[in-house]
Amino acid sequence: MRPSPRSRWSPRGGARGAAAAPAPGEPVDLRSDTVTLPTEAMRRAMAEAEVGDDVLDGDPTMRELEERVAGLLGAADALWTPTGSMANLIALMSRLGRGDSFLAPQGAHVLDFELGTAAWLAGGMPRPLPHDAGPGKVTASAVRRAAADDGFYASLRPVLLCLENTHNSAGGTVTAPEEHASVAAAARAARLSVHLDGARLWNAAVALGVPPGALTVGADTVAVCLSKGLGAPVGSVVAGSAEFVEYARRLRKMLGGGVRQGGVLAAAGLVALEDIDRLAEDHDLATRLAAGLRERGWRVREPQTNIVLVDVADVRGTIAAFAEAGVRAGAIAGKLRLMTHRDVGDKHIKAALDRIGEVGPSSTGSPGGPAPLPRTALGG
Ligand SMILES: *Cc1c(COP(=O)(O)O)cnc(C)c1O
Repeated sequence: MRPSPRSRWSPRGGARGAAAAPAPGEPVDLRSDTVTLPTEAMRRAMAEAEVGDDVLDGDPTMRELEERVAGLLGAADALWTPTGSMANLIALMSRLGRGDSFLAPQGAHVLDFELGTAAWLAGGMPRPLPHDAGPGKVTASAVRRAAADDGFYASLRPVLLCLENTHNSAGGTVTAPEEHASVAAAARAARLSVHLDGARLWNAAVALGVPPGALTVGADTVAVCLSKGLGAPVGSVVAGSAEFVEYARRLRKMLGGGVRQGGVLAAAGLVALEDIDRLAEDHDLATRLAAGLRERGWRVREPQTNIVLVDVADVRGTIAAFAEAGVRAGAIAGKLRLMTHRDVGDKHIKAALDRIGEVGPSSTGSPGGPAPLPRTALGG
């Protein structure tokens, strides 16, 4: 089955339309929640956006978006960035220097999927922490241990903890407010700053039924994505104190991320923010997808949000077999990754399960067992 052109867009909004069943030759794209196409409402808002020059003296629509996100996150201020990687990098650059180290849960995006920029641009030596508190989660005691500065002049100085909620490579796992707060408090007591990579913080908030601001307690800086589950074509935001944002604006310019009439992009982000609650549908569909796969003999992690991880012996082979059957999948941390998003509905999941049913776990090498593990995360 051939992939359909990526730019296909129907004016009904929701790209191909989550409500309609996929056409017979049309693949069901579950590689990432970043594959969504902008809705009609987003395109209209972009066309009609009030704009200025955000590098010169400000753009009203960008400002509105930044203020809105700062409010949602309980932060004093916020700054738009073109990507989540830049949002994280700005937060890390604002805190790290040569000779410093930073802690992050194993498999974190800042460790594995940002080309090591935390080290070679922000200057901090990464120190991965085990998931002692469950998938994607670290314990306060591990933070305390790792944060201990031995005072020796030749030792790295731990200065920052970077958390991730939801944790992507662990399978979209959610950290609850009290867990987050106690780990953040342990870091602060050890005089570490705390950055929260909340690319999918919206998913965590919806899964827990709490406002996003309940998940940022004790964090100095927070990064969120508008272009994942929320479906904006582009945009992330990094939030923190007013002083942080003032410095972050300089760092963003340094990295080439200052944009002029950015309101055109921010307008889509504002529309995206109206749809946070809709993420519950993605989570339901992920649960249904996982159940259907399990019924068909696949070894599936129970999803907590919109990410379904499948243990397979041959990740590459399974991706190819799925693609052949008309289902596009990705890989992360040596597992098959399927993600639900706003451009797929229950008919897509049903179609995906029917198509995968023809593949079957045994035809791609039975689940489990040793296998070469590609480390490619498709679509972040
Ligand atoms: C996608 C993602 C990012 C940012 O990715 P960009 O592609 O640079 O926008 C950051 N953190 C996590 C956990 C992510 O999944």
